[in-house]
Amino acid sequence: MKLIGKSKKGSGPAESVESASAQRARIETLVAGRGDEIIQRTKEKISAELAKLALLKNRAKAMDYFDEMAQIDGPRAKEIEEFKAKGGKVVGTFCHFVPLEIIDASGCLPLRLGCGHHAPVGVGESFLGDPNLCPLAKSMAGCAIVDDFPLYSQCDYIIAPSPCDAKLKLGEALKEIGPLLTMNVPRVKEGESIRKQWIEEIKNVRDALEKITGKKIDKKSLKRSIIKYQKAHKAWRTLLTQKRKANVIWGRDFLLVGWVSFIDDIERWTREVTKLTKELKSMASAGKLVAGKSTPRVMLAGSPVVWPNWKLPNLLEESGAIIVSDELCSGTRTFYDPVVTDEWTERAMIVAIAERYLYPCTCPCFSPNVEREDSVMREIEESRAEGVVFHVLQGCHLHTLDASRLSRPLKDKGIPVLTIRSEYQDGDIGQIKVRVEAFLEMIEAGEDSLFEDV
Ligand code: SF4
Ligand code: SF4
Repeated sequence: MKLIGKSKKGSGPAESVESASAQRARIETLVAGRGDEIIQRTKEKISAELAKLALLKNRAKAMDYFDEMAQIDGPRAKEIEEFKAKGGKVVGTFCHFVPLEIIDASGCLPLRLGCGHHAPVGVGESFLGDPNLCPLAKSMAGCAIVDDFPLYSQCDYIIAPSPCDAKLKLGEALKEIGPLLTMNVPRVKEGESIRKQWIEEIKNVRDALEKITGKKIDKKSLKRSIIKYQKAHKAWRTLLTQKRKANVIWGRDFLLVGWVSFIDDIERWTREVTKLTKELKSMASAGKLVAGKSTPRVMLAGSPVVWPNWKLPNLLEESGAIIVSDELCSGTRTFYDPVVTDEWTERAMIVAIAERYLYPCTCPCFSPNVEREDSVMREIEESRAEGVVFHVLQGCHLHTLDASRLSRPLKDKGIPVLTIRSEYQDGDIGQIKVRVEAFLEMIEAGEDSLFEDV
C-alpha cells in the first residue's frame, strides 16, 4: 500500500506513535528488498491455481471471465488505475460489515482486502508482531506494507471493522501508515442501545466518505446503489439455487466467483453471474454434470477460504468429493441478505443498511448466535450435504470455538463432521489429505455414527 508518504499519520482519533519516517524505515527493514519477490511468488501461486481450475471436468465456459478477473494484476487492476487517474478514490474494506452501498453512492470504488496470499504472510507477521495471529490478518498486513502490491497499492482509504482481535489490531497497525476508519462492531446484537450505536457507525462511514470526496451522498445516489446491490444479491441467490439442483459447478469455481465480487465492478459481476447461471441451467438440462450423483456431498464452514488459498477446497474435490454448500463469509454469505426497504427517505435507507449489515450476519464474533446454527442446518438441508468440514485458520479462536460448538448439534443429528486447522503454507497438505480421504470413505460407507474430533 502506498499509504506512507501520502499521509503523514492516521486520520482517526489515535495519533501515530511513530513518526512517518521512522515507520517507513521500520517497514523497509522488515520487507528488506523482498517486495518484488513476494509479488512475483503471489502471481505464480495464482497462475498455478488457475491452471488447476482450467483442468476441471465439464467446466462452464462462463468461468473464463472469473479466471481473468482472478489475476490480481490483470484487467481489473488496469481499470482501477484508470479510475484513479481520473481522480477516483479507492476504499479498501475488511470483512462483511462495511456498507458497500454507501461507498458506491459516494462515487468511491470499494475493494475488499481479505486475501489468501501466502507469500506476504512472513512480513505481515513481523509487522504486526504476533506469530499466533491468523494468516488472513498477517497476509493482509503483508500486502499492505509491500510497495506496489497489486490492488492493495490502489487504496486511498481503509474502512476497518473490528469483529475480532486480529482485525482490530490489523486496523490499528495500518492506521499508523495511512488514513483508516475503525468500525466498532458490537458483539451482542440485542437491544435498542446496540441498534442505535450501530446506526451511528454506519453514519460515521457516510460522513468519512463525504469528507474524502468533498461531496454529499444524496438520496438519489444512495437509492441507486441499494438497487444495484439488490440485483447482485438476487443474481447470487439464483446461482445458489441452480447449484443446489444439480452438480453443475465445482465448489472451487463457486468460491472463485464469490471472491471476484470483492474486487470487480458490481454491475458487470452481476451480469457475468447471470450468464454463468444460464449456462449451468443448460448444462443441467443436458445432463452435463461436473460430478456424478454418487459423489460425496460436502459442506464447507468456518474461517474464510480466500483466493488463492484453495488448499482445502482442492484437497476435498481432488479426493473425490464435491463442495455443494458453504457457510463462509467468503462464499455463500458474500451476497445473501440484501438491504430491504420500501421507504426511500435518507434516514430509512441508512437504517435499512445498518440492519442488513448487522442482524442477518452469522459471523462467529456474535453471542448469542443462534442464527449461525440455523444457517448451517438450513444449508445442509437445502444442499443435501452429507458431511460438514470446518475450516479453521490457525490462530482464529472464534472459528475454533464455533466449530466445536456447532459440531455438537450436527453430531446429534447424525451428520459427520471434520475440523481442519490450517495455515496458508502447503506443509500440512499430506496430513490433511489423509484425514480428508478417511472422512470421505466414512461418508461413502454411510458410517454416520463415526465422528472426527474437533
Ligand atoms: S467470519 Fe471473520 S473474517 Fe469473515 S466477516 Fe466475520 S469476522 Fe470477518
Ligand atoms: S479468520 Fe478469524 S481471526 Fe482471522 S480475521 Fe477472520 S474471524 Fe478474525
